[in-house]
Amino acid sequence: MNEIPTRYNPKETEDKWYKFWEEKNYFSAKPGPSKKPFCIVIPPPNVTGILHMGHALNNTIQDVLIRYHRMKGEEALWMPGTDHAGIATQNVVEKAIAKDGLKRQDLGREKFIERVWQWKEQYGSTIIRQLKKLGASCDWARERFTMDEEYSKAVVEVFVRLYEKGLIYQGNYIINWCPRCQTALSDEEAPHRDLKGNLYYLRYPLKENLDEYIVVATTRPETMLGDTAVAVNPKDRRYKKLIGKILILPLVNREIKVIADSMVDLKFGTGAVKVTPAHDPNDYALGKKHGLEFVNVMRPDGRMNEFAGDYKDMDRFEAREVILEDLKEKGLLEKVEPHALSAGHCYRCHTIIEPYLSKQWFVKMKPLAKPAIEAVKKSKIKFYPKRWTKVYLNWMENIQDWCISRQIWWGHRLPVYYCKNCQEGKNIIVSRTRPEKCPKCGSADIYQDEDVLDTWFSSWLWPFATFYWPELKDDLKYFYPTSVLVTAPEIIFFWVARMIMAGMEFMCDIPFKDVYIHGTVRDIEGKKMSKSLGNIIDPLEIINEYGADALRFSLIAITAQGQDVYLSRERFEQGRNFANKIWNASRFILMNLDRQNIKTDLCEFFKKEDLFITNRWILSRFYSLLKEVNKDLDNYKFNEAANALYAFFWHEFCDWYLELIKSDIKNKQNQVVMYKILEKFLRVLHPYMPFITEEIWQRLNESTSKRDNESTSIITQPWPHVQEQIIDKKVEKEAQFIFEVITEIRNLRSGIEIKPEQKVKVSMYPHAKTKQKMFKENSGFIINLARLEELNLLSSSKRPPATISAVVGDVDIYLHFSGLLDIASEQRKIKEKITNLERIIKSKEERLKNPEFVKKAPQDVVEKEKESKEGLTDELKRLERMLGELH
Ligand SMILES: [Zn+2]
Ligand SMILES: [Zn+2]
Repeated sequence: MNEIPTRYNPKETEDKWYKFWEEKNYFSAKPGPSKKPFCIVIPPPNVTGILHMGHALNNTIQDVLIRYHRMKGEEALWMPGTDHAGIATQNVVEKAIAKDGLKRQDLGREKFIERVWQWKEQYGSTIIRQLKKLGASCDWARERFTMDEEYSKAVVEVFVRLYEKGLIYQGNYIINWCPRCQTALSDEEAPHRDLKGNLYYLRYPLKENLDEYIVVATTRPETMLGDTAVAVNPKDRRYKKLIGKILILPLVNREIKVIADSMVDLKFGTGAVKVTPAHDPNDYALGKKHGLEFVNVMRPDGRMNEFAGDYKDMDRFEAREVILEDLKEKGLLEKVEPHALSAGHCYRCHTIIEPYLSKQWFVKMKPLAKPAIEAVKKSKIKFYPKRWTKVYLNWMENIQDWCISRQIWWGHRLPVYYCKNCQEGKNIIVSRTRPEKCPKCGSADIYQDEDVLDTWFSSWLWPFATFYWPELKDDLKYFYPTSVLVTAPEIIFFWVARMIMAGMEFMCDIPFKDVYIHGTVRDIEGKKMSKSLGNIIDPLEIINEYGADALRFSLIAITAQGQDVYLSRERFEQGRNFANKIWNASRFILMNLDRQNIKTDLCEFFKKEDLFITNRWILSRFYSLLKEVNKDLDNYKFNEAANALYAFFWHEFCDWYLELIKSDIKNKQNQVVMYKILEKFLRVLHPYMPFITEEIWQRLNESTSKRDNESTSIITQPWPHVQEQIIDKKVEKEAQFIFEVITEIRNLRSGIEIKPEQKVKVSMYPHAKTKQKMFKENSGFIINLARLEELNLLSSSKRPPATISAVVGDVDIYLHFSGLLDIASEQRKIKEKITNLERIIKSKEERLKNPEFVKKAPQDVVEKEKESKEGLTDELKRLERMLGELH
């Protein structure tokens, strides 16, 4: 057997085993009719992506599930890939060429796209490499990219089918426009944020008497240049006489009419509103209804155009200032009031959205939403946590049409062609391939639409397009519908809901059975991690410092279902310490293990009564743990399983079991049980900490695998079965009780500062007869672990003289102190300890009473503080009791 290093080195171990797994193809999955499929499609990270904590959490959860189901004997496929991320990637490449003083227009479309592909070849696999560092066991041979040739075919197919079904249409609409990115954005891509703005009151003079005017209020005065009416509510008495009158629009001197519409809110501003149909969604509706003119005064880059007169070429916000100045000068600015408003912001560059009139392509969503709503209502798809069901249904029931065209270059170009020869509106050709000739007039003068599709228009096909749909290959038939989707809450509407719609429409089936939505990773104060706040914890740094296992375990252990994750660097120490504990305990076992023993079948001992109580206990505890872990994993309670594994290994297996058998470790029965528990525990821990479990498992089975002359891996080992007949709750309870007794004796010893090597005499009085028997059977362990020279079982409840006492359940414990200590000095010491404890408890109480702390601190921090206070209070009671008895 090779030397086992005293310290665990995650860096070396992790790289070594990841390479081994990849070489052996352990992550690959193929349709196997005799096996149950288990499939997860990865939420494809952007090609521009760099692994952040959100990814680390998301992908660790998926890897835990995949490794668990793989070991359970299912055909587990984790489908990997990346998203071309239209706007994001274009932005990155635009920035890169800007360093050479170039704009994308300088290169032209074709050359620019070439640059993007070059960029993708060079940097696009960064995030894939980082996922491998994390230990992700994806079937890499299947890696997909949303711009792959086959994938793009699926995108075109979907567009054409929806168009032919009448579910895709082109229309002039007010859309969310980002003047910086110069593209349309869907509502989901333009989240609203609150702003401190102003309400400007402008005077519009009447044509018949220029000294009279109507006052309108607006938050965006620059759009007044595009006004084509002023609207009032027909019920509004103040304006009744003015309906139908003509106003002179200031600065541009255009004539506009006063119209009446019940949509106008009497209470907003002055009750009279300016109407700008080309620059506001509500005004757009008014404009359509009243047949108003649509005057667009802005260019796509947010600068004013030729319809803006003297303000042409000014940026929209610069124009605002100048317009206000000019109005003021003319006495037409009545007043300015501070006004809180909310405006859409580009999700990529945070520029304020301009509602902008333009020609775009849309998908009619209502017909697609219907079956997707049904699927969730009928529980064919289940959300974990359940509360997301309502969020999903609410959004779906109020769904708006989806604007899918984007005015950028990087992406799937619309399969829409126009004939130059045919009349506009009648010249649209939607086709899977570029048409040679116009089907109507036969002209070959044909050009393709310049726009590309929204990135989500390709990723909503991910669960089946990754399997080469529209072809129906065996893989697609076998793995679809997939088993579970693991995702973050931000993309429920962007992605999850749309995948359900696409699945129902194109596969006539749900895309996944379960949707597990995890929380958001925040800093320890609850703030979202962001570059600008400087509170980012880089997962790769953590992997470098503590190891990927430590990162994975710590992240999962603190992520409760449905709750956000509060993270600090210190949190990762838990995972690292756990890895070290596992390493040290395994090293101890390996050094004390006689290899010929490990092939012994446990059944040899397994007549229960032949097993020592220690072995009966640890075996029962292990299978109870396994049962719990199975249940937790099947219900997506990853943290609960992680914490149960941690507590079992650390506090039961190491603190108690190994201590209990230490003096008789060469006993064959102990050898077999110790080996079996460790080996099985490694398998159950493997999904969480794949690297260290493989490292130790390989060492543990060194001789076995050499004999078989083929390498094997913990990955391919079966998940242990729960052996119900070994679970013995009575033994578990008894052992637990004895441990509590030992702990109490240790507390008594430390209370009066008895040195570890000093043996003491203890008497006990169990009130119940049954306990008498139990203590007799187990006195050896108590004597050994509590370091006693003698253990007496008393027959009466009378306290023996010169003892200090403790109580565990219905057992009285007495430690005989005569001759062991100087009573006066011991009393003094205990009094000091009591004063000290009282002070600490008081400060903790104050902290817990402080509403600021309770409200702001993460829940588990508050819980820990409470627990710590309770623990100290118990200790205080113990010391007070001792002090009373010490005389
Ligand atoms: Zn933008
Ligand atoms: Zn034509």
